[in-house]
Amino acid sequence: MPSPVRIVPLGGLGEVGMNCLAVEAAGRIAVIDCGVLFTDEPFGVDVITPDLGWLIERREQVGAVFLTHGHEDHVGALPFLLRHVAAPVYGTRFTLAMVKGRLAEAGITADLREVAPGDVRPAGEDSPISVEFIAVTHSIPDACSLALTTPQGVLIHSGDFKIDERPVRGPGMDLARLEALGQAGVRLLLSDSTNAERPGWALSESAVGPGLHDVMAEATGRVFVATFSSNAHRLQQVVEAAAAAGRRLALLGRGMVENFEIARQLGQLLEPGWMPVTADEARRLPPRELAILTTGSQGEPRAALGRLARDEHPELKVHAGDTVVLSSRQIPGNELAVGRLVNELCARGALVRWEGHPPLHATGHAQEAEQRRLIQLTRPERFVPIHGEYRQLARHAAHAAAEGIPPGRRHLLTDGQVLELDDAGARVLPERVRSGRVAISRDEGGAVEVADAVLDDRRRLAEFGLCVAVVQVSAATGAVLAGPEFHARGVAGLDGREAELRAEVLAALGEAVGAGGEARREALRQAVRRWFRRATGRRPVVEPVIIER
Ligand SMILES: [Zn+2]
Repeated sequence: MPSPVRIVPLGGLGEVGMNCLAVEAAGRIAVIDCGVLFTDEPFGVDVITPDLGWLIERREQVGAVFLTHGHEDHVGALPFLLRHVAAPVYGTRFTLAMVKGRLAEAGITADLREVAPGDVRPAGEDSPISVEFIAVTHSIPDACSLALTTPQGVLIHSGDFKIDERPVRGPGMDLARLEALGQAGVRLLLSDSTNAERPGWALSESAVGPGLHDVMAEATGRVFVATFSSNAHRLQQVVEAAAAAGRRLALLGRGMVENFEIARQLGQLLEPGWMPVTADEARRLPPRELAILTTGSQGEPRAALGRLARDEHPELKVHAGDTVVLSSRQIPGNELAVGRLVNELCARGALVRWEGHPPLHATGHAQEAEQRRLIQLTRPERFVPIHGEYRQLARHAAHAAAEGIPPGRRHLLTDGQVLELDDAGARVLPERVRSGRVAISRDEGGAVEVADAVLDDRRRLAEFGLCVAVVQVSAATGAVLAGPEFHARGVAGLDGREAELRAEVLAALGEAVGAGGEARREALRQAVRRWFRRATGRRPVVEPVIIER
């Protein structure tokens, strides 16, 4: 009997981001994508990765990693996986170009293997799974769906996609191949749910060009355009719109400079001889002859546009009469940061534009009609919505229902839930596997994991403050010689009540007089915490200090 196949989502089913999915057959594992989740989590957390413990515990079984495309929410957590798992990584040219920098930064050498659409690769030695790359359109070049040939038939993983019938460049989505697979029989379709709540068909990327042309032509000052630097086809349209309006173009932000160069080297930007102007040249140009491509469309304070908005950019300034185009969608969770950015830019006298007609942005994700089209083409026996918050997954499952996929064949999974396919059918296993979120802090020294206990301390410090309790005791008898004294930072409710707290602490220490040093410290901590909880309802971080004399 052919081996069962297990689908193990480790991230991206229940949130928009940290996409990571494992497919297991005959004790061998293929990993699809390994991304981060962007977060507005305060307290020094920059991104979230999926908990990769399940994969790391099975590192010997992981035969290969397959990347659908180069967005951070699909590849950003690769360094955390490849630190433990030595498997080859397959991706298209642009995808691997996006990955190389991240891996180099993390000091990781990986076995990167470039593929092109149409290529089929085994998921490791003695794995019964092989994977075919199929070209799709998305907001980054070289994106692919994957068709996995497994002991339980063909599974299609859509990756992120939209069905763009007028792409800026390239042959577009390989609908013929997907249809051919559908005719031959597809056991399971896993499909991108990001835009399941939007009806109709997504706007073509090429629909953004006219809007950019109008802004460039009509603006009397400089035009700043903020967009995702990996969206090479958007960059291309900005280049063309600027050129048509007689504007030279400058690039601001490290990511923009790097990705623009990658796009140019990989032939994703037309004009081969075209060069951006330097910041020096840009400052000398009349405002009407300059456009600037910049990072920071999500309100990131440290990105170029954020620094321009606060007038902290060393190279350029935003002046009254300049136009700023946010050629992007706000990632959920970034609304406040983007709002602050727009306020700051308006306060400098800039005209900020982000929507309108003609449009200045097009989504990279399929909407309802395209999602349903993919189901029609591939005619899957079963359906699992992926990439989305639960409500988007549920809506996508409803679209599958409307396409005739019956209830028992639509599987709404969340991270950690395993779907097992075998000759008898498919079922969600009762046991979840280890999954979850890991907070990461990125700084000059690289990326470090922030443990839950550390985050919990930071949250409590921010919310309730810190109280240090100091007591001097006799080394010989344990009797209190002086104190307790309380040194509080950021604590509310203690003023005028120290005596009450002191009495409670002394009573508790009296009971712990014969105990050892550590037990006495703990008794001191507990007494202070108890008083705060009872008297103020708050839970400051309490740091006990016992000095023996
Ligand atoms: Zn994407």
